[in-house]
Amino acid sequence: MTDLDQFRTETRAWLAANCPLEMREPIRSEKDAVWGGRDQSNLTPAQKSWMDAMAAKGWTVPDWPKAYGGGGLSPAETKILREEMAAIRARNPLNSFGISMLGPALLKYGTEEQKLDHLTKIAKGENRWCQGYSEPNAGSDLAALATSAEDKGDHYLVNGQKVWTSYADKADWIFCLVRTDKTSKQGGISFVLFDMASEGVSTKPILLISGYSPFCETFMDNVKVPKENLVHEENKGWDVAKYLLGHEREMISGMGLASTGGNPLIDGAIATIGLDHDGRLADPLLRASIAMFEVRSKAFGMMSERFIDELKAGRAHPAQPSMMKYYGTELNKSRYELMMAAGGSDALEWESDASSGGATPRAWLRTKANSIEGGTSEVQLNIIAKRILELPSA
Ligand SMILES: Cc1cc2nc3c(=O)[nH]c(=O)nc-3n(C[C@H](O)[C@H](O)[C@H](O)COP(=O)(O)OP(=O)(O)OC[C@H]3O[C@@H](n4cnc5c(N)ncnc54)[C@H](O)[C@@H]3O)c2cc1C
Repeated sequence: MTDLDQFRTETRAWLAANCPLEMREPIRSEKDAVWGGRDQSNLTPAQKSWMDAMAAKGWTVPDWPKAYGGGGLSPAETKILREEMAAIRARNPLNSFGISMLGPALLKYGTEEQKLDHLTKIAKGENRWCQGYSEPNAGSDLAALATSAEDKGDHYLVNGQKVWTSYADKADWIFCLVRTDKTSKQGGISFVLFDMASEGVSTKPILLISGYSPFCETFMDNVKVPKENLVHEENKGWDVAKYLLGHEREMISGMGLASTGGNPLIDGAIATIGLDHDGRLADPLLRASIAMFEVRSKAFGMMSERFIDELKAGRAHPAQPSMMKYYGTELNKSRYELMMAAGGSDALEWESDASSGGATPRAWLRTKANSIEGGTSEVQLNIIAKRILELPSA
């Protein structure tokens, strides 16, 4: 038995013993996802025990170094862990912008103190983070951001407004882009961290058409940010911001992957439309569209595996996350269009218990945002054209 075979056997046994049965069901709604944070009062006992058990092994962040709360696993071991979790349909124990966005950026650019403090808390789910990038006049053109950070010796005084800050009203800390030099666009941006409980920080939730309110306007009014919370050098925040965006796009592209718990598209279509006498979906046009979608989805799954392997081996093209983000999010939109088509007019109902409060139509509306958040599809196509196809800028 090789070391990896042994690791697989031990991992399988550990997961079987430690993953509660409730955590082996697909995530159906927002409240099923665990985000961690100072306030953990709304976690179910199963969610809490699954998160804590995985965190104790360092497996909420399996490939981070052990010194920062990670599992210290190699890329091959990390892949085995993912496969074994998928095999029992185990849920992700912890979803967190700290894990998918800030963590990789701190691992590359953070000081030792920042890593020891923030990464270990992220790994244990102790702090929930939000992202302060977009502003009313800085979205796709992010480097136009105006939130200012004035040097006051041992701290910066931050003033300005962010918008579309996901879960800012629930987050404990924010990673935030601020302007420390007005004379240079990209070269005048710094990357800072601060506690959302700091004096002068306030948030205002934005209500969406889906009925949810997942993001906020965030206001900073004379917020004192200690200098030790600057990540990388002053005026070099754009490097950190771009590196983090690559990881954010990689995370968002995962929306395009099939869920680990069955195939809701095919199962749902069969349940509403039924089968013909040859055992095929009774609507031939929808059947062909679903078949085409499944082929694209399988190809994307394989491309994702290859991309992750290349990324871990340090061989991924820096613009590859844009390709993944573009395709993954467009694919997820197609999946939900087909689910809604299969459900017919009944699929639009979103209040009854039978539809779990309209889980599918609400998720369908949410997919429209996938190709906007983290940089729009048009912006990803611009990056692909310029960086991968080497076409001249418009
Ligand atoms: C669900 C969701 C969650 C989000 N969460 C966060 C968050 O937590 N933190 C945060 O900071 N931000 C967040 N955002 C904001 C997101 O990053 C921005 O919405 C995005 O970058 C686009 O910016 P904008 O909305 O200002 O659109 P604009 O930049 O005004 O774009 C409007 C339209 O013009 C197109 N366009 C703009 N420039 C170009 C160009 N050069 N070439 C071609 N087309 C172009 C765009 O593709 C788009 O269709 C979130 C957004 C969504 C939808």
